Amino acid sequence: MDCSICTSLPYILRPPRNTICAACYEGARSIISLTSKHENEKPNNNNLLSSSNSNKGFTNALKWVKEMKEMEEELNEKISYLEGFAAALKDQIHTDIQIIPGNNEPSIPAHRALLATRSAIFRNVLDSDECKAPANQTITLAELNHEELESLLEFLYSGSLPKEKVEKHVYSLAIAADKYEIPFLQKFCENKMLGSLNSSNALDILEVSDTCSNLNLKETALNFIVRNMEDIVFSARFDAFALKNPHLTVHITRASFMEIRNRKLGL
Ligand SMILES: [Zn+2]
Repeated sequence: MDCSICTSLPYILRPPRNTICAACYEGARSIISLTSKHENEKPNNNNLLSSSNSNKGFTNALKWVKEMKEMEEELNEKISYLEGFAAALKDQIHTDIQIIPGNNEPSIPAHRALLATRSAIFRNVLDSDECKAPANQTITLAELNHEELESLLEFLYSGSLPKEKVEKHVYSLAIAADKYEIPFLQKFCENKMLGSLNSSNALDILEVSDTCSNLNLKETALNFIVRNMEDIVFSARFDAFALKNPHLTVHITRASFMEIRNRKLGL
């Protein structure tokens, strides 16, 4: 069928050019219902928009898209304004505390105020330091190496991290986010792990989710392992995993037994 919306040459169609394919029809309905939902959620909404009036629906949808675009530009400006914090870390502007990683690696200068706003745990440590005289000018995060600490600080200052650093340090960052109560980093790491879950990293993700008590991630990783038992259980990684995590190995065994039983019962 020649669709008057998605064809590349709409002008060759015969007037009144009102044929529309199923994909465009569904798409148009979805856009209008999404816009209506957005309008209905607005405070002080006087319900000008009716989903039965499709012309009005499209006018509103376009208005909404423009508003979103403006909002995006505003947020981008705000983000680049806030990036001043990352520069303060990078160029060590007025730093007032040294953060020490493990293994006697060199410390990294940072800012007490920023650390206190990002983590409830750092805040407590810094608050209790102020009672002491003289003030303790260091915090030691012995479980992180220098590179991991650098990535943690970069995230705390800028709210994001380059892809290569995320891939390399996501597990240690997830554990640090849990330990130092940094919810935004917890969510960030969870999303990255869920997005990259595969046969070669499922055991690592299960281990990290257990350490961080992240039930959603743990359940997803466990289900993935059960559905890909052959690839995972016969890998060399599984031997080391089972020795280190006997309780998780029990979980995997039970879950895969249930899976086999349910399959047999046709559930
Ligand atoms: Zn179409």
